[in-house]
Amino acid sequence: MTNPPNLRPDLAPAPRFDTAPRPGQPRVGMVSLGCPKALVDSERILTRLRAEGYAISPDYQGAGVVIVNTCGFLDSAKAESLEAIGEALAENGRVIVTGCLGAEPEYVSGAHPGVLAVTGPHQYEAVIDAVHAALPPAPDPFVDLMPASSVRLTPRHFAYLKISEGCNHHCRFCIIPDLRGRLVSRPAHAVLREAERLVAEGVRELMVISQDTSAYGVDIRHAEDRGHRAHITDLARDLGSLGAWVRLHYVYPYPHVRELIPLMAEGLVLPYLDIPFQHAHPDTLRRMARPAAAARTLDEIAAWRRDCPDLAIRSTFIVGYPGETEAEFQHLLDWLEEAQLDRVGCFQYENVAGAAANDLPDHVPAEIKHERWARFMEKAQAISEARLAAKVGRRIEVIVDAVDAEGATCRTMWDAPEIDGNLFIDEGFEGLEPGQIVTVEVDEAGEYDLWGRCVD
Ligand code: SF4
Repeated sequence: MTNPPNLRPDLAPAPRFDTAPRPGQPRVGMVSLGCPKALVDSERILTRLRAEGYAISPDYQGAGVVIVNTCGFLDSAKAESLEAIGEALAENGRVIVTGCLGAEPEYVSGAHPGVLAVTGPHQYEAVIDAVHAALPPAPDPFVDLMPASSVRLTPRHFAYLKISEGCNHHCRFCIIPDLRGRLVSRPAHAVLREAERLVAEGVRELMVISQDTSAYGVDIRHAEDRGHRAHITDLARDLGSLGAWVRLHYVYPYPHVRELIPLMAEGLVLPYLDIPFQHAHPDTLRRMARPAAAARTLDEIAAWRRDCPDLAIRSTFIVGYPGETEAEFQHLLDWLEEAQLDRVGCFQYENVAGAAANDLPDHVPAEIKHERWARFMEKAQAISEARLAAKVGRRIEVIVDAVDAEGATCRTMWDAPEIDGNLFIDEGFEGLEPGQIVTVEVDEAGEYDLWGRCVD
């Protein structure tokens, strides 16, 4: 078992812990589950512990205590989190639980009474206190220094940049606002300072994350501080000037998203929009209480592509939402056909404990949900295949993620790590290194991936 575990989104390229522990140095293990936002929380906790003189153990056996940062979004994620806690208890025995599932301490301690402490999401102080109680720090003033760089669980060349926490919406299938509270945006100058530091450390790609990226700064009235305005358009432009790839995740199709498209056309920000549409039928969207439910999304998409023809759009959808009729689902399929989205994920609706959607009438039977999911994925795959085939023969820049004896695994500007496809280089890859950005000619396309050769 490696640490963090081999689970998405942190498919565990070996984490980098720069220094070997000194004798007697307390060592903490970390298992990080869930979304990139949770991964950023894990990084913050480890950074703080490192600064206090703890070493980070890459395995269970070497750890004096193991922190399990859990995900509690879907029931399946909860089950996975409980399983990870059980594994950490069996392998190490001294376990502190934090993260989304920590918002329900009785649920955790009911299943695993042996855990030492349970703290909720963003309770950094409480996690650190629990670590102090379980494994006191043993500072060595001659050796311990504030780490010059924070601890990151991603490979050296890309990093997640969290710009805000929480969400002001009340989508009925979602309990994130209950778990994480209302929107709280970081000041733009603080985000930029972090981004500058990451780029100085060698990061070549910044992935902007939040629950609702387009709402960035709404809570602080888009305040300007130290010359930087807390608005996503300004922030994207500022980030785009740092010389790294900038990728925007979790953007809602509000009208001001239009202002981001010229930045993509100019090459300041990657031509990539990750927009969780979730559905297309206005009635389903209304029952979901989605933000921007009334937006004329097909018109918007056409306008974005007109202004930035290279734009890739990724999205996620829920099929089988309570009350979804065959006609609503068919509307979604027709919408997808017209929208021609590049990258698509699809979930069959699942009740989440505490979510308002559970009480809606007309839940869709499991076999219909599955059948709709299969029809949806078949169409999404055909669209992906056709859109990738159209890229054969083009010369494009790719970022190298990994190189081994078989070849180089890279990504195009249209692919985010872990969730999208890859571009593989099978020949002439010797000498390439992770983080390098090289030009390739695309010579083959599959359902989700591309193949190419370097032309630099
Ligand atoms: S926008 Fe909706 S789905 Fe997204 S975090 Fe907020 S409430 Fe949840």
